[in-house]
Amino acid sequence: MIEIEKLVKTYRMGQETVQVLHDVDLTVNKGDFLAIVGPSGSGKSTMMNIIGCLDIPTSGSYKLDGVEVKGLSDNKLAAIRNDKIGFIFQGFQLLPKLTAIENVELPLVYRGLSNKERRKRAAEALRKVGLEERMFHKPSELSGGQQQRVAIARALAGEPPMLLADEPTGALDTRTGQEVLALMEQLHQQGHTIVLITHDMEVAARAERVVRMKDGVLTEDHAERRERREAFAGIQDGI
Ligand code: ADP
Ligand code: MG
Repeated sequence: MIEIEKLVKTYRMGQETVQVLHDVDLTVNKGDFLAIVGPSGSGKSTMMNIIGCLDIPTSGSYKLDGVEVKGLSDNKLAAIRNDKIGFIFQGFQLLPKLTAIENVELPLVYRGLSNKERRKRAAEALRKVGLEERMFHKPSELSGGQQQRVAIARALAGEPPMLLADEPTGALDTRTGQEVLALMEQLHQQGHTIVLITHDMEVAARAERVVRMKDGVLTEDHAERRERREAFAGIQDGI
């Protein structure tokens, strides 16, 4: 789904050029649950912006679902973003005046669906996150964990091939954060592809694959991945 090769990102700061990502290689397959973990300033948000088609690489290649993203116009990037990616943010970013279901419907407005079809899909997405009973509540009438689940439903509504979550538990207490992570695990098991960005190793450990970002360099821990796979297979075998 994601093929990144020798990705470089530099920013211009006045006269100087600062290189933030150094020859990053990353492949994410359909159905993966990947975490990118690293300390503050390591380049995670820059990586997230590129994966999410909010920004483009300076050099190197990024293919999303086979389409080379580098060099596309802003309009084309926006179209890819709408089609391919469901975003989940630390601060939920729900519109306060709209109900849960209206928030979830919002990304479907641009798809030319009938009102009825839109509502049906939004209700289905809310069911998936276990919030069908709170459909007509406004964000202020929901707990933080519930608000994040509405945001996850909104990300799911357009049935994008990939969910991209930036510190999704950052604004939640530990227990509520665990519930949101359990929901993401469940979505992964249902076949969704998830990229989770976090500074928190414990959060990252819930993913199936962990890659580490440090000073703009990405490394994958393959041994860890194998253990995780075996543990997962063990759970499925009922061990
Ligand atoms: P993280 O999300 O891991 O904290 P970022 O991707 O936000 O890291 O930042 C990585 C580095 O790139 C930091 O040194 C930051 O100062 C720098 N940086 C990020 N965005 C810009 C920008 N728009 N212009 C210049 N430097 C930036
Ligand atoms: Mg960041």
